[in-house]
Amino acid sequence: MQSPRKYKRVVVKVGASLFATEASKLDTGLVNKIAKQISDLIKQGKEVVVVSSGAIALGMSILKLASRPKRLEYLQAAAAIGQHELMHVYKLALNKYRLNCAQLLLTWDDFLGVRYANAKHTLNTLLKLNCVPIINENDTVATEEIKFGDNDRLSALVSILVGADLLIILSDVEGLLDKNKKIIRQVDKITGEIKSLACSTNKKICVGGMVTKIEAARIAVEGGVPCVITNGRKNRIISQLTNNPFCQGTIFLPR
Ligand code: GLU
Repeated sequence: MQSPRKYKRVVVKVGASLFATEASKLDTGLVNKIAKQISDLIKQGKEVVVVSSGAIALGMSILKLASRPKRLEYLQAAAAIGQHELMHVYKLALNKYRLNCAQLLLTWDDFLGVRYANAKHTLNTLLKLNCVPIINENDTVATEEIKFGDNDRLSALVSILVGADLLIILSDVEGLLDKNKKIIRQVDKITGEIKSLACSTNKKICVGGMVTKIEAARIAVEGGVPCVITNGRKNRIISQLTNNPFCQGTIFLPR
C-alpha cells in the first residue's frame, strides 16, 4: 500500500443525497465545507477532481418538486435547470479561497477513443492551472447515471482517466455494513458475499445506493485506484482520508 504522502491526486465524488434535507429544501452548505478542504489540500500540493451530483436535486428544488419525477425527460429537464445552479454554488464556495472551478459534463461515450484523450488533456491542464474540475454526467444527452448511478460509476471511470491515487465516494452512509450492521473497514476482494451486503437507497430525491457504489469500487480497484466509501457529512472527512484512507468508512483495495 502507498504511504500517506503519496495520495496526491484525489477524485472526490459528492452524492446527491448530501444535498438533501427536507423535501424541496437543499443543504448546499456542505459545498462550503468541501471547498475549504479542497483549498487546504491544494496548499499541500495535492490535486483534487470533484465528481458532483446534485443537478436534478437542485432543479427539483427550483421547480418546487417534493419527489423525483418518474419520467426521464423531466429528470433531464430538472438537471438542465439545476446544473448551472450547482456550478454557481461551487463557484461561490471555491472563490472564497481564491480558487477557480471548471465544469465538465461527460457521458460514458467520452471514455472511448479520441474523446478519452481530449478529456484527459483538458483535466490535466486544469489541474496544472490549480483549477478545480467539477464533473457531472451530461444529463441532456445521457441517462445512465440518472437511471441508476448517481455518478458512482462515472467517478470510478474518472479516477482511472486522471490516474488518481485515491477515489473518495461521499454519501450519507458510514460505509459498507455487514449483516450485523457493523462497518466493514477494508475489502481486499469484491466477492459475491460483499455484493450481497448492498442495500437500496431512499429514491425520493436520488438514485444510486450501495449497489452502484460497490460496482464503482470494483471499476476503480480493477483500474488500480483504491476507493473509500464514507459519510460526506463528517467533519474534515476529505482531509482526513487523503492523509490516511484507512481512517474512516470502507476502503476497497486494488489487488
Ligand atoms: N447527474 C445527476 C445529477 O447531477 C446524477 C444524480 C441523480 O440522478 O440524481 O443530479
